[in-house]
Amino acid sequence: MSNYQRAAIALLFLLGSIFSLVVDTGSQAKTGTPISASTQTTAIRCGRLIDGKSPGAISNAVILIGGDRITAVGPDLEIPRAARVIDLSHATVLPGLIDAHTHLTYHCDAWPNESTAVTAIYAAENARRTLEAGFTTVRNLGADAGVDFALRDAINRGTSPGPRIVASGVPLIRSSSAAAGTHMSARIAALRQAVRKNIAAGANVIKIFVTAGAGGGNAILFTEEEIRAVVEEASKANLKVAAHAHGTEGIKAAVRAGVASVEHCSYLDDEAIKLMIAHHTAMVPTLYLPNHYLARRDKFDFDHSRWRALVDLRNQTPRNFLKALAAGVWIVMGSDAVAGLHGENAKELEWMVKSGMTSEQAIHAATVDAAQLLGWQDRVGTIDPGKFADLIAVAGDPLSDIGELQRVAFVMKGGVMIKNELGAK
Ligand SMILES: [Zn+2]
Repeated sequence: MSNYQRAAIALLFLLGSIFSLVVDTGSQAKTGTPISASTQTTAIRCGRLIDGKSPGAISNAVILIGGDRITAVGPDLEIPRAARVIDLSHATVLPGLIDAHTHLTYHCDAWPNESTAVTAIYAAENARRTLEAGFTTVRNLGADAGVDFALRDAINRGTSPGPRIVASGVPLIRSSSAAAGTHMSARIAALRQAVRKNIAAGANVIKIFVTAGAGGGNAILFTEEEIRAVVEEASKANLKVAAHAHGTEGIKAAVRAGVASVEHCSYLDDEAIKLMIAHHTAMVPTLYLPNHYLARRDKFDFDHSRWRALVDLRNQTPRNFLKALAAGVWIVMGSDAVAGLHGENAKELEWMVKSGMTSEQAIHAATVDAAQLLGWQDRVGTIDPGKFADLIAVAGDPLSDIGELQRVAFVMKGGVMIKNELGAK
């Protein structure tokens, strides 16, 4: 054997040692496939698993996770020897919750002429609270100055903790009624341009105010024709449209124009219900919101008519929600998390159940159905192989007490443990 051959063998031996060091950190060591430590399999033992699609809960399920994804799930699944085991066998595990309507940039402290930088600091804090409360995905409907885009991107880079964000950027809004102003063709052209501008800035969804805020009555700000142009322009970039509408005519115009969801939907009538079912439009009812405002009158600087409108909403919306539910309208959970509500998003689930949903329906509204509305059904919303390992756990049983979801004790997002108050290793 020549010196050259000896050197080559020594080099191969050395490379082999390095190679085995690498593979020993992974669960697939025996296959000889070099993988990094971050892809070590994690196994979660679940006492009960609500997977987002099966009825009831599955006992003694095991979830296997590789990297940021779920790789397998099932009852009494065999746990690979090298896996890191997280024992949640005394808890109920669910998919990470999804809030289809948040405002992460809203906060209570008043800053005169607040700068974008200050807003961003609050938004980052709100995002952290939201994630720690078990909401691993949100759709943020309305933020100025691109703060929602920057926050989303920072979270995706791993530099700031928070949920996955479907962000709208600046909402389309008009201060006067739809009938006022310039010619229709010019209004439509301006709207299309506004949609394209949002898309270019980084929007994942388009938000439009079809009626004014809570006290806006029945007047519509955009006609059906205008909303249809917005839907069409958004769909060119495969984006959906979320329409804010309290008043009956606004709800109907938005549904006929083809929006994906109507936010609030407070004063829907029988015809609106029929239209929503025919168009498979999602209703995002925001039932808790008026209660949140009314309990914190000192924090919000609303005029008398706005407060009166909120009392009306509180009294009226649960009844309309129940009618829509009974008729079979597709309902998705959205808290409208405004100032002071970040991290308490699950109160909306409690109100959905108080207003007539079963706990299971409410959970589906905040997982599998919300994922569908976001167009993210391939990545979040259920515990299924191939989806992000976004999951939460609670000590009790949310099927018998939906309030359990306000006490989320374990949060994992993309395979990374965010919070663990269950004593699980
Ligand atoms: Zn809102």
